[in-house]
Amino acid sequence: MKIEAVETFLVHAGAPGETAWSGNTGTKAGGMSMGTTRHWLFVRVTVEGGLTGVGEGSGWPRVVETAVNDLAPLLIGQDARHIEKLWGMMHLATMSHGQVGTVGGGAVGAVDMALWDIKGKALGVPVHELLGGKVRDSLPAYAHASTPEKARKAWDMGYRAFKSGNVKGTVEKVAALRKELGPQADLMVDLHGPPWLTVGDAIAMGRALEPFDLMFLEEPLPPENLEGYGRVRDAVALPLAAGERHSSNLWSAAPLIQRGLIDVVQPDSGRCGGITQFRKIAALAESHFVQVAPHAGTLGPVAEFAALHSMSAIPNAMVLEKFATDWEGRYQVVTQEPQMKDGRMVVPDAPGLGVDLNLDEVRKYPGGHNASIPNTVSYADGTQEEYVYVQPRWQRTTAFGHERD
Ligand SMILES: [Mg+2]
Repeated sequence: MKIEAVETFLVHAGAPGETAWSGNTGTKAGGMSMGTTRHWLFVRVTVEGGLTGVGEGSGWPRVVETAVNDLAPLLIGQDARHIEKLWGMMHLATMSHGQVGTVGGGAVGAVDMALWDIKGKALGVPVHELLGGKVRDSLPAYAHASTPEKARKAWDMGYRAFKSGNVKGTVEKVAALRKELGPQADLMVDLHGPPWLTVGDAIAMGRALEPFDLMFLEEPLPPENLEGYGRVRDAVALPLAAGERHSSNLWSAAPLIQRGLIDVVQPDSGRCGGITQFRKIAALAESHFVQVAPHAGTLGPVAEFAALHSMSAIPNAMVLEKFATDWEGRYQVVTQEPQMKDGRMVVPDAPGLGVDLNLDEVRKYPGGHNASIPNTVSYADGTQEEYVYVQPRWQRTTAFGHERD
């Protein structure tokens, strides 16, 4: 089953200004927003006889696209069935070229995902069958809700788990959600690990959130501060979650798990090195009584399907992240939409991943720029806009919800 072609498709997930995700903030360059622009990078691998598999790589999709195209000559002529071997070849080939980062994890992972899709289609079985078989037919999903009104709306759709985020006003937000939804709701908070949040502040936030019985507190610190995670862990009686920015393969996720820093690991199925690495991260997590709740915030629909298959076949699957509405074109660029039932995502049983690209739609949304540029970009010394990654916390009282006199 020789690989004949590896193609990439970069999709701008929404035209500039159309949605909050597609970016109407930040600087403009050539008429294209460079704000919160989202891209999805799809990969299609074709083997002899014309069978195709699809994958998706995040991590920095425009860069990942280049990386996949650089890897393509290595893959052409190889047997698509030898997934573990090909993963190793790609990993070795990226030595000195982003091997251990999320870009490498996205590129290698996108191809890996497509290979699992091909194997499933060739054998006529869904990918979860190849991973040991389904542990469950559906998985709980959580919605994003920052207000009681939004949470109630999602509750009425069947959701029973809800996440809100950021630092400012979060305790009050969570209190309002708990009051509205009662003890039956699972609540999560994502602090998004800002670099200016000190360990002491993260502990203070965690302790203030303890009375609300969170399912987990996500990224209380920036990903670089593993030592700080240990200190938060010891001081806060809440389950901690992290991994969306740590996990580009098994080894990068391992320190979080092996050092006992988290209760929930959050590999992003588009940048954790593919299904091959996802299942290994999950197995390591299982051995440490850590559960898995994949990150999906920047992902498109193909990686969503990959997460569904991967999660359905592991015993320590906790919950999936679901964006009910991010961009109306989300499921137009593919042939299938994951089915929801009572707030749970139904595990697909079609051969392979059970999803394909709708290329006519994909080609309507060519890629643009892709970086998060802060709204205020003066970078003036001595102001909050200085934007050095690690710096004193300008106006910290404002960030913590206390207005200045
Ligand atoms: Mg997060």
